[in-house]
Amino acid sequence: MSEITNEIKKRRTFAIISHPDAGKTTLTEKFLLYGGAINQAGSVKGKATAKHAVSDWMEIEKERGISVTSSVLQFNYGGYCINILDTPGHQDFSEDTYRTLMAADSAVMVIDASKGVEAQTRKLFKVCVMRHIPIFTFINKLDREAKDTFELLDDIEKELGIATCPINWPIGSGKEFKGVYDRAKREVELFSDTKKGTAMGEVKMIPIDAPETEELIGSDAKDILADEIELLDGAAAEFDQELVDKGQLSPVFFGSALTNFGVETFLKHFLKMTTSPLPRKSDHGEIDPMTEKDFSAFVFKIQANMNKAHRDRIAFMRICSGEFEAGMSVYHVQGGKDVRLSQPQQMMASERKMIDKAYGGDIIGVFDPGIFSIGDTLTTSKEKFAYEGIPTFAPEHFARVRQVDTMKRKQFVKGINQIAQEGAIQIFQEFNTGMEEIIVGVVGVLQFDVLKYRLQNEYNVEIRLENLPYEYIRWIENEEIDMDRLSGTSDMKKIMDLKGRPLLLFAHEWSIRMTEERNEGLILSEFGRS
Ligand code: GDP
Repeated sequence: MSEITNEIKKRRTFAIISHPDAGKTTLTEKFLLYGGAINQAGSVKGKATAKHAVSDWMEIEKERGISVTSSVLQFNYGGYCINILDTPGHQDFSEDTYRTLMAADSAVMVIDASKGVEAQTRKLFKVCVMRHIPIFTFINKLDREAKDTFELLDDIEKELGIATCPINWPIGSGKEFKGVYDRAKREVELFSDTKKGTAMGEVKMIPIDAPETEELIGSDAKDILADEIELLDGAAAEFDQELVDKGQLSPVFFGSALTNFGVETFLKHFLKMTTSPLPRKSDHGEIDPMTEKDFSAFVFKIQANMNKAHRDRIAFMRICSGEFEAGMSVYHVQGGKDVRLSQPQQMMASERKMIDKAYGGDIIGVFDPGIFSIGDTLTTSKEKFAYEGIPTFAPEHFARVRQVDTMKRKQFVKGINQIAQEGAIQIFQEFNTGMEEIIVGVVGVLQFDVLKYRLQNEYNVEIRLENLPYEYIRWIENEEIDMDRLSGTSDMKKIMDLKGRPLLLFAHEWSIRMTEERNEGLILSEFGRS
């Protein structure tokens, strides 16, 4: 096997998804601790920076700077080279959060044991399902009072529609938390003090049938565990790697990221069960990193620069095959010419550093003089194939944009198109009314402020945004549908994208189903084609 194939085989590239505060940052930190990438937990990012005033672009920039540095982290553990993709939450939640999932080969879903499945997890989960990537579950905060374990699993199965397979099982929770039971080994891993998670902690495993088990966890806890295991063995799905690979079965682990408990156990199992870099679809068929020798990558995120010369940006790309070398010349398929990839960067723990080499599975950021768009392919292959594009994700907030000074139409159109091309916003028009007004859709409301601020500062255009009451957008899959005869609901609005393709906006979710029922053959989709 070649050196390059060896490097790629070692890679594990995954995203962590969760609702804010479930413990994503803490878990990531603990992974880095085990990987030796940081010495002490608490150094990845200061939580104090998470809350900010949304109106000030400088603040947004600072925040952005932080989300850039923590967006991809690489470290080594147990012979693997691991790339963790962070999916920003809070006010930072945007289309980028979804796009990040397009670069991952699997996902780790962190769930707060006292809360179960929450809104943001649900949204991100849908994208994982669309991609059929393996999904792993880490149920966190067992050191706090937790929901009933069966209820938690039921919640995941019902809410998300994925079967679960507990790899281990918690013994109590909160003050009564004793540890977890490893179902395959039939051993109990005892909860140990890790100085609030700053030390790695000693893992103590004892067989469930050993005489000291009862003494260590208490006879009540042991009885409850025995009952639960009996119930579980009779009812739960068996571990099946094939179903895990297809994203149809989620292995579930329990622990407490804060105290470090269950983190290394999870990491070890997860790395074995998850996948090395997966093949990707292109217009020349599937490109498999194990057989494709040439370098190829696609752009999944563009970070607009903070200075006024806004054409200076960083393009984040996922390398899909081959080897990357700093300064190498590659063919930009959509641009139709060769480009040199300069200033390549990668994130190591809390630092950004320049890199010389990277391989299939890795994520790099390169200097973008304003030529790349989201979804673009770069390759050194003679075949010049293009990877399948990145879908457009459904915005949830809509506003009509009005220019304050109508004389500046040209700058306005240029600016708003540029910002849309970077992928921060989506723009639409009224459907066949002849009106030139623009409707903007965003995934996270912060993007409205970003739009306003950037138009003012970079294009000298002042705008007013008038919020619209819609929350749901659907693309029409069968474009032959006669839009004039479409019978919708009273809260529905017809709009079109810049290519003239029709879309529907709804204020209520139930109206979507009603509209589908009223129009036979109508196929609505939550994901658009770019
Ligand atoms: P994120 O928003 O998902 O990145 O969540 P954080 O990792 O920032 O955690 C949110 C809060 O929960 C912080 O105050 C953490 O210290 C706390 N936390 C994280 N994991 C645990 C855990 O296992 N147990 C307890 N008790 N608290 C935790």
